[in-house]
Order: sequence, then structure tokens, then C-alpha cells
Amino acid sequence: MTDVADGTLAELAGWQRALRAQFPIVTAHPDLVYLDSAATAQKPRAVLDAVHDYLTTSNANAGRGSYPWANATTSLVEDARERVKRFLGDPEPERSSVHFTSGTTEGLRTVARDWLPDLLADGDEIVVPFHDHQANLSPWLEARDLLARQGVAVRVRELPYQAASGDYDPAALARITGPRTRFVAATHVHHVYGADMNVHRVREAVGPDVAICLDAAQSVGHLPVSLAGLDVDFLVFSGHKALALPGTGAVWARRRHGPDFRPGGWRGTPNTAGIASLVAALDWLEEAGTDRVERWTVALTSLLTDGLSRMEGTYEVLGCRTSLAAGSPVQRRRSLVSFRHRGIDAQDLGFVLFSHGFMVRSDGHCQAGRGGGGAGDGSVRVSLHIHNTPEEMERLLATLASLQ
Ligand code: PMP
Repeated sequence: MTDVADGTLAELAGWQRALRAQFPIVTAHPDLVYLDSAATAQKPRAVLDAVHDYLTTSNANAGRGSYPWANATTSLVEDARERVKRFLGDPEPERSSVHFTSGTTEGLRTVARDWLPDLLADGDEIVVPFHDHQANLSPWLEARDLLARQGVAVRVRELPYQAASGDYDPAALARITGPRTRFVAATHVHHVYGADMNVHRVREAVGPDVAICLDAAQSVGHLPVSLAGLDVDFLVFSGHKALALPGTGAVWARRRHGPDFRPGGWRGTPNTAGIASLVAALDWLEEAGTDRVERWTVALTSLLTDGLSRMEGTYEVLGCRTSLAAGSPVQRRRSLVSFRHRGIDAQDLGFVLFSHGFMVRSDGHCQAGRGGGGAGDGSVRVSLHIHNTPEEMERLLATLASLQ
């Protein structure tokens, strides 16, 4: 383990122990290790309490009715929009809007369906990622196909990647960007490689006039995400991966390039209990300190990546191999690691690991261009959150070592 990771884990041990104790599902199952937070995260008691509180004190519909519970629910939803902006460090909250969704997939699709077509004219170009999550590819291709049926031809270009690191390639991006480029879709942290995709360099490459939509599913809730430093037009995330209830997520949109973001005509009943859980989750994360959440999970990932590297003959780590890559401004592995056993199929390895109590994801992880993630195609992904411990990593590494 690197000295940096070592020091971080020692420094934050007491803080982490107190936080881990707040996850009822974790403390109730001491023999099980949840390692699938990138799919959906476990919930601290404060989030569960907030939902119980809301449903037992003021449950009603939002934006309808004028009795106290209805008013309280309307305020809950309106205040939650401002809460999301504050959590994301929005420097100009008066110029932005927040729309609640069921997760990142619905959020990206909403941008593609309800905003993008009005930005595009015949002959325009969009740049989208072909090797990120399918949720950040399909909606853009669907929008292109819809426009084509209306006689508007939009060219889709592939966001270029660097082969060695898996990061985007800003120089190649600058070369394919032209006067007809209107829009770029990118991802903040890659859900298979764990790489920070350095999206500020996407803005540098395309210049100030192109709209950028950022899939922040794997960064919000894991590290301090500051809109002030990102310079994007849309940021989409899943509340349920940031400790809130299933069926939660949001689109943050800034009025700058193109039409106003006005999602979907008539709006039905929002997920009010989910929105209450999202507010509680963001409060909890802020209180815990997203910078410390980041340091803790990055240090654990480092422990795991380094342990896997020592078993290189048996395990192949996908993406960037170094973890706390000292001095590397290019790439830093976040809170997840994907790897393959050179002799055991990923699905089989997932079953073996569960027989030892580890709950991992083992398939193609919905990565675009990876088919269904069938035998031989997938990998095991270990993804962490604040309740995970160095002891769990040691136990996992010992189990993996026994399979050499
Ligand atoms: N984008 C990324 C990068 C993801 O990791 C995920 C979830 N695995 C999604 C999008 C989809 O999120 P959701 O399931 O909340 O719609």
C-alpha cells in the first residue's frame, strides 16, 4: 500500500467507524460485505428516518392542494432543488434549474428528448461517448434517429479516448470539433475503469460555445463535485447511488447554450418520499465531508489495486493500474476497481466470491459496446462506499489469493 493510502486510513479510522455504525443493513449483516455501491448505495439511518418522518408527518402531493401537508410537500420539493444546487457548488443558482428523475438514465434521456432536438439543425454535429455507460449513449442516438425521421440530419461523432489510460483524448477531440459541433456528452468518473475522466479538458478542447452534458452518476456522493470548476451545461446524477432511496436522481441545468430546459410537458406526481431522502442524504454526506469520503474510498481502492497488482499473473486490472498515482495529473482511480481472473469466468468468480460473503458485480456493467456481458466478456467490479473497511479489503484479497 502507498504511504498516502496508509496515512489516510489511519487518520480517518475513528471517523469512519462512527459513520459505518450508521448503516443498519451493514451492521445487521456482519458476515456479508457489500461491494456494489456503484450500482446502488446502502442508506444511513438518517436517510431512512427522514423518509419515515416525512411519510408520518406531512405526506401529500406536491404542487397541488393548499392544506398544510400539501404546502409542506410543495416546499420540500422546491427547497430540495436549492439543496441540490448548494450541494453541487452552483456558483449561479439563479440561472439554473433542477429537475428530479428516477436516476441518471431517465435524466440523460430527458435532456436528449426534451432539450437537445431544439438545439440542433440540419448538418449539426454532436459528440458522444461510445465506451461509457449505455445510459450515456442510447439517448443521444435515439435523438439523432428521431430528428432523421423529421428530415434533420445530425452527425454523431465518437468522443475520442486515449488507448493507454482509458481517459478521453482532448487533442483528438479538439481536432474533430468544428463550427457545426453543438453538444458533447461526457462522463465524470468511469463506471468500469474508475477513472476520473478530466472533463475540464473537454471544455478546454471544445471551447466556450458548445453545450456539455455530464454523467456524474459515479462522482456525486463519492467526491466533492463543484460546478464552479466543471463548466458544464447539464449535470445528471443518481440519488440512489448517493445514499438516497431507489428511484431518485436529478438533472441540474444551466441556461446558457440553446433553449431553456423545460422537461416533459405535463408533470405528474413527483417521488416526494424519494426527494425527502435525497435531501437527507446530501445533508448527511456534507456533514460527513465529501472530501473525506473521497480520501477514504480512494485509499481503500488503492489497497485493493495494489494487492491485485501483486497477483498480476492471475488477475488483470482493467483501466489505469496505478491507484494513488503520485504526481499524475492525468488520472486517479476513484472508488471502484474492475478486474478479471485469467482462468475463471467473471460470472463464476462472482459466485465464488459470494460464497465467501462478498457481494460484487460480475458482468459487462452496462458498458456501451460490450453486448450483454456474457461469458468471457465481463469482469468483476468491486465498488466501495464509506462503510467499507481495510479489513474487508484484506479479507477480499486473501480470498482472491486463495484462487491463484
Ligand atoms: N451512468 C453511469 C456512469 C452509471 O454508473 C450508471 C449506473 N450504473 C448509470 C449511468 C445509470 O444510472 P441509473 O441506473 O440510476 O439510471
